[in-house]
Amino acid sequence: MSNQALQPIANLLIRRVFKWVILCVVCISSLQAWLNYRAIEENFNMTVDDVAHAHLPLLSVAIWDIEPQTIQKQIALILKNKTISYVAIKASTGQQFTGGDVNRLENGQHMRFDIPAPADASKSVGTAEFVVDKTSLRKELLRSFIIVIIEVIILSIFIFVAVVAILRHDLEKPMRQLADFVKNLQANQLATKLELKRKPENGYNEIDLVVDGFRTMQDSLQKHIANQDALVAERTSQLEAAMKTLKQLSITDGLTNCYNRLLFNERMPAEIQRAIRYQRHLALVFCDIDLFKKINDEYGHAVGDNVLIAFTQCLVDELRADVDWIVRYGGEEFIMVLPETSLIAALEVAERIRHKVEHDLVIRLSDGRILHITASFGVAQLQAADSMESMVQRADEWLYKAKSQGRNQVYPKAAPVIHLAP
Ligand code: GH3
Ligand code: MG
Ligand code: MG
Repeated sequence: MSNQALQPIANLLIRRVFKWVILCVVCISSLQAWLNYRAIEENFNMTVDDVAHAHLPLLSVAIWDIEPQTIQKQIALILKNKTISYVAIKASTGQQFTGGDVNRLENGQHMRFDIPAPADASKSVGTAEFVVDKTSLRKELLRSFIIVIIEVIILSIFIFVAVVAILRHDLEKPMRQLADFVKNLQANQLATKLELKRKPENGYNEIDLVVDGFRTMQDSLQKHIANQDALVAERTSQLEAAMKTLKQLSITDGLTNCYNRLLFNERMPAEIQRAIRYQRHLALVFCDIDLFKKINDEYGHAVGDNVLIAFTQCLVDELRADVDWIVRYGGEEFIMVLPETSLIAALEVAERIRHKVEHDLVIRLSDGRILHITASFGVAQLQAADSMESMVQRADEWLYKAKSQGRNQVYPKAAPVIHLAP
């Protein structure tokens, strides 16, 4: 966002309008003043002409009849007109009659008229000279000019005020609303549509175009964000599924689908902790397929793999789903973790499995032959101060004992006295 101070567009337009108004005032006033000057001057000359022609016949008779008093009377009447400041009547006989302010002779405009003879207008009996005082003409011109200026200024003020009000109401107000809306719009509020508070009678103009354009942009942005959200949700669920698969792969053995040692090391300490905290039994059965190397050697590695799969399935079938769990600890070595199980119960489970492996587990070879296997078992129960390692070691020792005592056996043979975890 720009740091520049805000200069409302209406103010800019108002300033421009103001300059044009001033220019118009000057031009219109000048034109009007000039027209007034022409009209007033013409009117002024006509007035003097009228005065002259109104008095010339009487002056003609008075000169013809040689009546100085009448002439002086006419001069006095002529001087009643304020625009004429001095009058000089010269008869063709040489007589001269004057009236008015002698001082104005220098400054005034001299207008001369022939005085026709009463009987024959083609002959002259003298001349009448009017000294016209232009002060009143100038005053009249100034007065009309001031009136014109005042009229134009008042008219301009009215127009200017109206333009300012219109610009503020129809341009600045909606633009300000638009700017405030855009400034405060948050990404999560795109559904809030831009609404300008303005009367519909203004018609559809550029501001409505901007509003419509902005709404269209809001809609497309909203759709775009929704698409992005859906995409992100889809990708997240794909990622979660992949993570789950990855996690499953990282903790399970690919051949037998049992948990691997990594999982055992991670989960077993927690299992021990829980059993100790709640003073519950926990048993661990370590088992190993007997003479498995021989199977590999005699029948091949693939058969060995099948034996491992079949053996694992046998373990799964005999254990409690979702309670007991099986770990492939080494090549053909497995650990069964039996929560809530005492040593006697674990020995029974191990014996049951041993029996089942020996008598029920048959592996059919591709040539039709049948393969039997056996397995040895070492059982340990959680004791006070036991750790994962000590428990595994004890079970391993019993397994070793089972192997050394001829294989296909479960050890210990009788449950020793067990001290439960405190
Ligand atoms: P014991 O009765 O004393 O346990 O004898 P054993 O032959 O079972 O024991 P040993 O440790 O000598 O042999 C284990 C064999 O298991 C050796 C190894 O080749 C085989 N093995 C380990 N992992 C796999 C596997 O994933 N697949 C197959 N087919 N064989 C495996
Ligand atoms: Mg073995
Ligand atoms: Mg082994």
